Amino acid sequence: MNQYFEIALSAYLLMGLYLATLGPAGKDIHEEIDRARGTSLLNAYLDREPPSELKLLLFRVLITAGFVLLWPVFIHGIVKAQRMAKEDSQAFDNKLSQGLWFQYLGGYGSITCTDCHHNESITSFTHGRDSSTTGFQCQTCGAFAAIHSGGPGRASQYESSLTCECGGQLEREKVLFCPSCKSQKLSYNMDFIT
Ligand SMILES: [Zn+2]
Ligand SMILES: [Zn+2]
Repeated sequence: MNQYFEIALSAYLLMGLYLATLGPAGKDIHEEIDRARGTSLLNAYLDREPPSELKLLLFRVLITAGFVLLWPVFIHGIVKAQRMAKEDSQAFDNKLSQGLWFQYLGGYGSITCTDCHHNESITSFTHGRDSSTTGFQCQTCGAFAAIHSGGPGRASQYESSLTCECGGQLEREKVLFCPSCKSQKLSYNMDFIT
């Protein structure tokens, strides 16, 4: 009986050790140590010496041991968080591969169409102390609009309607397209950001 218990316990600990090193938790533990080490900027900011390598080693041994003993408690959350992070980054890559989005463009700059070389200055988002300006594109005629809105906390309250002069709808959550040839192959050059 004792022997079976020992085998089961060894298997349990080996499994924990595997998960904590080569397995999915290894990455998390590694990141935890890096966070504890801190960047030179953070250490300078906190006016502290970076923790010694011996302390970091002890810290690593401690959290690894804790995980090896209690891995069934943590493993589900770790795997789930890693899967979600991966899905997020895939969704992000997928969006970027479709073209330019206002939400990922900073400030004020110009777009250039790769297909017809049309070039135009646009505002994506700029803000002053009491106001901000947000970029939109008409989904019908392609015209860009820079609409004035409120200051901090009120950036989504626009001071004019989101309808273009042509009657089309101004949108911000769509892939940008060339107003001249409708191509989505655009590049953006930022002039300034506020
Ligand atoms: Zn329009
Ligand atoms: Zn074009």
